[in-house]
Amino acid sequence: MNIMKLASRIGELRPSAIRAAGKLIASKPGCITFAGGYPASEVMPVEEVVELTDQLVRDYGRTSMQYGLTKGNDDLMEQIVKLMEKKGIKCGIENIQITTGSQQAIFLTGMLTLDKGDAVVVENPTYLGALSAYVPYEAEFIGVDADEEGMIMSELEKTLQENKNVKLIYVVPNFSNPTGKTWSLERRKQLLEMAKKYDVLIAEDNPYGDIRFSGEPVPEIKSMDDEGRVIYMGSFSKVLFAGLRVGFTVSSKEIADYFEIFKQGVDLQSNEFAQLQIAGYLKNYDLDKQVQRIVKNYSVKRDLMCKIIDEKFPKSVKRTNPEGGMFVWIELPENIDASVLLEKAVEEIGVGYVPGGPFYADGSHKNTIRLNFSTVTAEQIEEGMTRFAKLLHEELD
Ligand code: PMP
Repeated sequence: MNIMKLASRIGELRPSAIRAAGKLIASKPGCITFAGGYPASEVMPVEEVVELTDQLVRDYGRTSMQYGLTKGNDDLMEQIVKLMEKKGIKCGIENIQITTGSQQAIFLTGMLTLDKGDAVVVENPTYLGALSAYVPYEAEFIGVDADEEGMIMSELEKTLQENKNVKLIYVVPNFSNPTGKTWSLERRKQLLEMAKKYDVLIAEDNPYGDIRFSGEPVPEIKSMDDEGRVIYMGSFSKVLFAGLRVGFTVSSKEIADYFEIFKQGVDLQSNEFAQLQIAGYLKNYDLDKQVQRIVKNYSVKRDLMCKIIDEKFPKSVKRTNPEGGMFVWIELPENIDASVLLEKAVEEIGVGYVPGGPFYADGSHKNTIRLNFSTVTAEQIEEGMTRFAKLLHEELD
C-alpha cells in the first residue's frame, strides 16, 4: 500500500541504535553483552511486591482495579512529596503529575515547549530516549559539550546567544545515561542562572540519582529553583522495578496543570494498580534499604569493570568514573569506529556493547562506547571485558 497522508514528522524518525546493536548481539547466541540498559532483576523486591499486592486488593478492593485521576493517585503523590522533601525540593501535590515512566515526562516537556522549528539543548552525549521523545515535535537539537563537571557553560551561553529559538534545556545531572557522569554543584547553579538570563526552561531528568556508590550527594537543580524554571522528572523504574511504568514530574502548578490536560489526551492516566503498589511500598517498606541492596550489587560490578579497563585495556582508551548509576563510558582513539568494531566484537569474541555515536545529537564521536554493568554478573564482566581488552590491543597496538 502506498501511504500518502502521514504527518511530516515521520520523516524525522530514525530506528533505535540500541535496538540495532541488540539485534546484532542476539544473532550470536552466548554473547556476553554490555549493551543492556535494564536494572538488575536479582535486586527486585519480589517478596515485598507479593505481600503488598495482596494487601492492596484487600485495602482498596475494586477501586484498585478502576480508572483513577489523570493527575495521579493522591496516596502516591503524598509519598512523593515526602521523598522530594528529603532532597530539599519543596512541593505539594499541586506541583506533581504522575507519568507513565519518566520517559513520558520527557515527552510531555516537549509537548509543553516545542513547536516546529524550536530548539532543545542537550548534553553531548545525551540520553537517546530523550532524542527520540523530542524528535516528533520537529524541533532542532543543539548538543553542548560537557566536561567532568557537566555542560560547559561558555559553550551553552554562546549557544543561547546565537539561537533565539531555544525553549528547553534537557539534562541528566546524576550518573547520566550514557556517560555515568555527575554535574558539580557549581555547574548546576550556573545552569539555573543561564536559564534565567535567557528565559528557557530546564528539564532535569533524575532516574539514577539515588543509586550512588561513592562521593557525596549533590543538590538537585530543582532544589535551588525559586521561580518554577525547572521541571524535575523522577522515576521508580531504577529503584523498585521498571515494569511498573510509573514516573512523575515536579514543576510549577501552572505547568503541572498543563501536563494534566495533555495527559488526558495522551493516555487518560498512568497505571492505577502500579501507583497503589508504589504508594503501599513507600508506606510499609524501607525504600532506602532497597536502594542499598541495589547499590551493593552495582558498586561491586562497577569496581570490577573499571579495574579491568584500567589494568587490561590499551592506555589510549579513556573512561569515565561513575559514582553511581548503571554505565561506564569509554573513548577509543578517534580513528576507531565503534559500530564497525562491534561487528568484530560480536562475531570474533562474543562480546556486545552500544556504540556511542547515536547518543550525540549530530551522531558524531563514533569512537565512543557505552558499557552497562547492572545486567551482567561479575563472572561475565571478568570474562567479557578481558576478551574485549585483547581485541582492543589487537586493533590499537
Ligand atoms: N531518563 C533516562 C536518563 C533513562 O536512562 C531512562 C531509562 N533508560 C529514562 C529516562 C526512562 O525511564 P522510565 O520511563 O522507565 O522511568
